[in-house]
Amino acid sequence: MYGYQNKVLRVDLSKKTAAAEPLRMDWAEKYIGSKGLAIKYLYEELKPGIDPLSPENKLILMTGPMTGTTVPCSGKLGVAGKSPATGTICDCSIGGHAALRIKYAGYDAVIIEGALDKPGYLLIEDDKISFEDASELWGKGCHETEAILADKYGHEYSVLTIGPAGENLCGMACITSDYYRQAGRGGMGAVMGSKNLKAVVVKGTGGVKIPNVEEAVKRILEIQNEDVLQEDNTFVFDWGTTAFLEACQDGGILPYKNFSDTTDPNWTEYNGEVFMEKLEGKRGCGSCGLGCGNFLKIGDAICEGPEYETIAAYGPNAGNRDPEAILKANQVADDMGLDTISSGDVLAWAMEMTEKGIHDFGIRFGEMDTYIKYLEMIAKGEGIGKELAMGVKKLAGKYGGKDFAMEVKGLEYPQYEPRGSWGMSLAYAVSDRGACHMRAYAPNEEVFAASIPPYTPEGKGEMVYKLAQHNAVKFCLCICDFWGTISMETMAELMSLVTGKEWTVEEIADVGTRVINIARAFNQREGFTAKDDTAPKRIFKEALKNGPAAGQKIPEEAFEDMKQQYYKVLGWDENGLLPDSLIATL
Ligand code: SF4
Repeated sequence: MYGYQNKVLRVDLSKKTAAAEPLRMDWAEKYIGSKGLAIKYLYEELKPGIDPLSPENKLILMTGPMTGTTVPCSGKLGVAGKSPATGTICDCSIGGHAALRIKYAGYDAVIIEGALDKPGYLLIEDDKISFEDASELWGKGCHETEAILADKYGHEYSVLTIGPAGENLCGMACITSDYYRQAGRGGMGAVMGSKNLKAVVVKGTGGVKIPNVEEAVKRILEIQNEDVLQEDNTFVFDWGTTAFLEACQDGGILPYKNFSDTTDPNWTEYNGEVFMEKLEGKRGCGSCGLGCGNFLKIGDAICEGPEYETIAAYGPNAGNRDPEAILKANQVADDMGLDTISSGDVLAWAMEMTEKGIHDFGIRFGEMDTYIKYLEMIAKGEGIGKELAMGVKKLAGKYGGKDFAMEVKGLEYPQYEPRGSWGMSLAYAVSDRGACHMRAYAPNEEVFAASIPPYTPEGKGEMVYKLAQHNAVKFCLCICDFWGTISMETMAELMSLVTGKEWTVEEIADVGTRVINIARAFNQREGFTAKDDTAPKRIFKEALKNGPAAGQKIPEEAFEDMKQQYYKVLGWDENGLLPDSLIATL
């Protein structure tokens, strides 16, 4: 098939060897690229039960057939491994330009195995691979590390780096690229840190072959003009994801003080208009048709973002309304290489624990100076930060407060209150990497479009399955989430244009289902069952007090009903397990 380089770079850090090998095209036909293909490799190559922070874990950087072409919004890179936060499979999607450069260097994927005996970084310059010393970089933040490497190699190179959080094996550690883009969830930065790998630096000078190039590029441009450049997508150019704040406030799903309630009457103190007044510059990822990146400066805080998730986590969910404090906390977390969602939930939980008098973590709602200090201490594993770095699940196991520990399988809740969007509680529960909003985004249907009633279990299994199937295909194609209007038909057409093989909507949809299944099969092999598809007790026990969803809590039997619907539609048994006959097809 066109679109692929038919080559994987396999790097053994323990032996300091690197060799190109053919891409498994039989797997690429079934899983396309990025998320799906990376999970397939991990499913086949990782021994069940390995320690995610041992040299036996692998870190895969996976592109897709569209990477490096003119397909809009196709510059995302899949980053996957076994998660130290959850013990599940984990794949993230990182923006910037690294995906394009890996592809132009001649590879569909880089598979990183083993561990270096001392801090180093991997340098990829087309087919020239070297292992460089990183002792001078170890301990530095992501921003300084990237600046030093950019200075040394120039701007034709992309850098994927970790900060102190990754070095200290924190389960909330990200991998960062282009300074402010992250593979954010599940602790992929800690996997890199466990390998003593501070950075991957890559330059590629080749290209990507697609068939009938003139006609294909013309049609791709038409799709860009007709589909991508609609207001439903272009709002991210004007507003980034700050626009979601108003939508979530209006819909009653903006979390407040560790999900103890929703909505904030004073939300306009830190809304999109407040942030965008401080705009200093714009940018986008490689091959992007939308350009959602906004550089803001408030006081001495400077950062690209903040995204909705970060505004909500470091704003109302932390009892904070100061936009400068949100931006400063965002800047510190990005530099430290910390996931803003998980770190926000950990600190919100610690604030509630302190205020309830269960355990004094030395921080209360709204105390943002301490908050910002704690972010750095979490990343560096210093003082109380070392304790908080455990994540909310382990913390609640040690100190109590389980009922309001907002997590599933050890991954902290994203910033969408599920009592106002019941399908979201199911999406969090069954997501392959723990609580995640990127697998199935229920608020679109239940709240924003209001096409499906939010406060009922009815039809939610099918709804979450369809949403997850659609997103799985999108991630396999490396298409950015913010091309929100893309249909299965368009994805099938783009695949046909780029690969030269005719793809039907059914075939594309089957890939999505297969990806959901193989991720589940990986987790099943690790011992996960229906008992792990949970929700925090707060969701079942406490009714919301404010906003359009006031009075709502989710009855446990309704939650169980949604889970069983979901398992049934995928052909899993009542315990959420795939039958052998289904596993055999993967
Ligand atoms: S919309 Fe934003 S995140 Fe998506 S590809 Fe473009 S710049 Fe990157």
